[in-house]
Amino acid sequence: MDLSVTFHGAVGRTTGSAHIIQAGNKRILLDCGMIQGIPHHYNRKFSFDPKSIDHLVLSHAHIDHSGRIPLLYQQGYEGPVYCTPATKDLLKILLLDAVKISKEEARKASRKKQRGGIEPLYDEEDVFEALKHIISVSYHKTKTIEKNISFKYLDAGHILGSAQPILDFDGTKIAFTGDLGQNGIPLIKNPDPIEETHYLITESTYGNRIHPPMEKARDMLLEYAKHVSQEGGKLIIPSFAVGRTQILIYFLNAIFEKGEIDRTPVYIDSPMAIDATEVYLDHPECYDKETLSLLKSGDNPLTFPELKFSKSSRESRAIRSGWETCVVFAGSGMCTGGRILSHLINELPTRKSVVLFVGYQARGTLGRKIVEGAEEVEIYQKKIPVKAKIKMIRGFSAHADKRELRAHIERIKKKPLKTFVLHGEAEQSLTFAAELRNILRIWARVPEYKQEYSLRSVG
Ligand SMILES: [Zn+2]
Repeated sequence: MDLSVTFHGAVGRTTGSAHIIQAGNKRILLDCGMIQGIPHHYNRKFSFDPKSIDHLVLSHAHIDHSGRIPLLYQQGYEGPVYCTPATKDLLKILLLDAVKISKEEARKASRKKQRGGIEPLYDEEDVFEALKHIISVSYHKTKTIEKNISFKYLDAGHILGSAQPILDFDGTKIAFTGDLGQNGIPLIKNPDPIEETHYLITESTYGNRIHPPMEKARDMLLEYAKHVSQEGGKLIIPSFAVGRTQILIYFLNAIFEKGEIDRTPVYIDSPMAIDATEVYLDHPECYDKETLSLLKSGDNPLTFPELKFSKSSRESRAIRSGWETCVVFAGSGMCTGGRILSHLINELPTRKSVVLFVGYQARGTLGRKIVEGAEEVEIYQKKIPVKAKIKMIRGFSAHADKRELRAHIERIKKKPLKTFVLHGEAEQSLTFAAELRNILRIWARVPEYKQEYSLRSVG
């Protein structure tokens, strides 16, 4: 079988994951992600013909891996989307949120009378149309999609439902890490090792970084929660709705149960995080051993008496105007919009409060400005002084660091013939590829955007 692979995104960057494997006359798309950090509407045009694709194999629900799926159907794709059952449920939430963001961008653009690109990328109907084509595939089950072409999902340990697709073309194996989690992320299982593969496509988000241990991150969380409860302030956490919020809920539950701090209310002030948490609760098949045994003993780590969900904006206002010490999760994670902004208006000028960042803050975002020590920021055209304590915890990352990435590749029984290094800023990917060449002595490259690489069949 003639085999080749072409990379249509996530080359020298972390977003826009989309790779095409050509196998004979069949074309399989791995992921169909949104390019982020640019205006939404730049995503409209594909660098390949959607009609030419036969199958879409999705790694996980994050929008930089899935966000263009509705567009693919809009532009003539007629095949299925394969994903795990948990990914299917998260996908609905994330794609509907993408519609909201896109509509908001379109509104802003039309207010500024920007020419072109003022139409939202897609709407709710497009999302529901796309969701109709999903075929759920459980972990470790072989799914045959064409004569002599099959794949199975290994757990990627990144977010609920995340997977590493291992494709088999008549005996020749191509493995894709998707986004690989770090070991020890609570709730979900650690990444499954890849037993064998002939070709490998790997992520490299932290190809040149080592994370502090998760235990240290937990201790820092405890320290800041203690600080606000002693001072009488609020702990405000800009949250990524899927993954990070649930990890932190898990740790807060454990902290309360050990009696390490006084019990204070914890508010999830983000409708999307609430929906995502419900999906987490619906998928025990993804849980790790510790979570399963907690559940068995009658303790659900994602629900505890102090945890309160605020869906309506009335409830959100009540939290903001209250004086009590509390922990508040609100979106968006980089403070680019959403309910977090109103919390920041209230709490940034308050010395007793702590604003705690738990994830990467991209350049140009309000989150980045605050993290970098701005003394004053502008929110809704108001100048807000920054007096609260600003803190950042890096250890809660949902991505493997360079040591874990390398160990993951080292564990493959026979060295892959070719390893393609993607999904990282250029420096991270290039450094990681060089390390694989020098230390593991394997063929490893950061591929060129849209260049086709032929792969020798070994089956
Ligand atoms: Zn991801």
